[in-house]
Amino acid sequence: LNKPNILILGGGYGGIMSAVRLQKELGSDEANVTLVNKHNYHYQTTWLHENAAGTLHHDKTRIMIDDIIDMNKINFVQDTVVEIKKDEKRVILENQELTYDYLVIALGADPETFGIQGLKEHAFSIRSINSVRQIREHIDYCFARYNNDGKRDELLTIIVGGAGFTGIEFVGELADRVPELCREYDIPREKVRIVNIEAAPTVLPGFDEELVEYAINNLERRGIEFLVNTPIKECSEEGVLLATGEEIKASTVVWTGGVRGNHLIENAGFETMRGRVKVEKDLRMPGFDYIFVAGDCALIIDEEANRPYPPTAQIAIQQAYTIGRNLKALINGKNELETFKPEIKGTVASLGKGEAIGKVGNKKLFGATASAMKKVIDNRYLYLLGGIPMVVKKGKLKLF
Ligand code: FAD
Repeated sequence: LNKPNILILGGGYGGIMSAVRLQKELGSDEANVTLVNKHNYHYQTTWLHENAAGTLHHDKTRIMIDDIIDMNKINFVQDTVVEIKKDEKRVILENQELTYDYLVIALGADPETFGIQGLKEHAFSIRSINSVRQIREHIDYCFARYNNDGKRDELLTIIVGGAGFTGIEFVGELADRVPELCREYDIPREKVRIVNIEAAPTVLPGFDEELVEYAINNLERRGIEFLVNTPIKECSEEGVLLATGEEIKASTVVWTGGVRGNHLIENAGFETMRGRVKVEKDLRMPGFDYIFVAGDCALIIDEEANRPYPPTAQIAIQQAYTIGRNLKALINGKNELETFKPEIKGTVASLGKGEAIGKVGNKKLFGATASAMKKVIDNRYLYLLGGIPMVVKKGKLKLF
């Protein structure tokens, strides 16, 4: 009897956890499972802002895929997906083509630039190990140039576009990192500007007001400037032009203002909203009962709030569990699939070393307690991925 081929695209939270779950759920005689990922490592996207600022080395953030999955049970292909041929059940990679009976799309997000001129060309974005390594080295290089290159202020000006979750977490790390860089490169701290620019009337839109106030006070005290209600109109090699007409010269602009689903989904001709697929309740692609979509590529609606859930690692991980069980059911000939219901346990945003804000259940957390909670959440993920050994190897074990 021919075993069905399950193909997973992307080895981020949604993809790698789908592989881990299928490895657990399926017997080797039930299906062939193949995971395709650009790199031979999985990385924790939720830690990338630390690598970008240089407060955590990127080797801590990435985990070799063969440390996570059993290569005897799952076929791993390191390659880049170029095209999904949805009607032919084929996927084109840079170096080969693969066919499938069941597909899991978990290719993560692309930056959403809202058509702002020059952003794509001139702003960095926090999206992969390669992108954050470049940000860290670029900032280091700007600081290194300062005393040798006319002491130009723009070399020490860092603009962060977007004050959502990622933007706030990133400026929190920069607030820790910049004093170290100043010591390293003989630069007075007051010469450095870190400006966080947000088009919405507040930072962290949608977050609890008291927590937002705590975050702003904390970050301002540590030298972060905020410009809210201030859309960026244009970005260039020189810096940014604001909608107010003001220009800020900066050698470093990092855009964290939003994400959309991976462009490969739109390119394949699937129906999307900001690049994301509004999936069925069982996480399948509408009209394609052999394709599942997970993580930032999937759009699911919060019925109570009547708006989409923000894309998070928390949801991507939970979706992988449902996808694992639903694939097993399909392979075993069952037609009743599980409905995905996210269980939002809480949200914690880090503000740098030992500082964070968050809500877990109805409880608001601030400062060191929130920061410890963030590490517990991160360690829990590592536990789900590879048990205690993975926590010991890659975890953040010093909670306070
Ligand atoms: P990803 O985890 O991004 O994985 C996508 C994978 O696909 C990657 O491994 C990538 O290399 C691979 N890939 C992409 N294109 C191709 C291709 N063409 N071919 C082959 N492989 C490809 N969420 C939370 O819940 N809590 C947080 O605290 C939190 N903090 C965050 C902080 C930052 C700085 C950022 C950027 C995000 C944060 N998020 C957080 C959001 C969270 O990281 C995402 O929602 C989550 O990563 C989505 O998982 P995913 O599997 O869809 O994508």
